[in-house]
Amino acid sequence: LPRLFSGMQPSAASLHIGNYAGALLQWRDMQASHDAVFCVVDLHAITVPQDPAELRERTRRTAAQYIAAGIDPEHSTLFVQSHVRAHAELAWVLNTITGYGEAARMTQFKDKSARGGVDTASVGLFTYPILQAADILLYDAVVVPVGEDQRQHIELTRDLAARFNSRFGDTLVVPEVRILKETAKIYDLQNPGSKMSKSGESPQGIVWLLDDDKAIVKKIKSAVTDSEGVVRFDPVEKPGVSNLLTILSIVTGTEVDALVDSFAGQQYGALKGAVAEAVVEELRPIRQRSLELLDDPGELDRLLKINAERASAIADATLARVYDAVGFLPRG
Ligand code: ATP
Ligand code: MG
Repeated sequence: LPRLFSGMQPSAASLHIGNYAGALLQWRDMQASHDAVFCVVDLHAITVPQDPAELRERTRRTAAQYIAAGIDPEHSTLFVQSHVRAHAELAWVLNTITGYGEAARMTQFKDKSARGGVDTASVGLFTYPILQAADILLYDAVVVPVGEDQRQHIELTRDLAARFNSRFGDTLVVPEVRILKETAKIYDLQNPGSKMSKSGESPQGIVWLLDDDKAIVKKIKSAVTDSEGVVRFDPVEKPGVSNLLTILSIVTGTEVDALVDSFAGQQYGALKGAVAEAVVEELRPIRQRSLELLDDPGELDRLLKINAERASAIADATLARVYDAVGFLPRG
């Protein structure tokens, strides 16, 4: 089976329905046809300041939600990035073949450092895409399902792999980019012009997977819409209503067009009611399973340990090829 790699940062205490629709659902379905490797990327998370106790808790919770959403830790490999040392080690080697100007062209750093300015951004945030390249290349992944925002980083990964191979001989597998379909993007309920984001500061605009039923209903019923009063799909003119339709389409598996037809002549209240009910039903078992896993940390730790060992076996073999290719002296 083709190897797949993907991951998420433990940057909040819960994942949200954007992460669910845009990543977890696809991951779950792709497990059957791929040798899938899923990572909780805590090394990436510390590129911005984190509270240590909170980071530990968020890492545990992110892993629990992967499993609760259907990632099978017996079938796929699901691990925490810092448990596998090869990530940091390969990133170092890749740092040395990345041009400074090449790294400086990465737009995510420009975006993320724009707020505080480059003087407060860390060098780790600057080299983030190089660590991401290491994540992918360690597992000889050929398929990397990501959102459009990650395209530039996957292109960099391809460039670095090809450069390494031409300089040191065939060592790394050059991955293909697979951009997940655009309809999977979910926007903030209160501010439908911006994407729902774990680190976004919008208490009422983000539906968390661990929210209770009441909180979900309240957030969806107070979602920002428009004054036209007609349920139709038009992301430019009607971002709020279109976002609700997208969410309903994903959780019910019904085409947006069919949903629009079914709401003909109805008000936004009816749409919101349907979305709230569908999301509550979809997320309830995921929340319950997550909380069960978090109630039994011994079992979660056991699963993560076995999976980290499986991941290390693959990653260490790649790192050994790389160390040999660049001319490091074997330890013996
Ligand atoms: P952060 O704010 O920390 O960047 P995030 O919510 O953007 O958090 P990431 O960890 O960056 O989440 O991304 C995890 C995965 O979820 C990626 O595959 C990304 O494409 C997907 N994703 C994130 N936000 C959305 C969204 N609003 N709609 C659809 N997919 C999303
Ligand atoms: Mg993000």
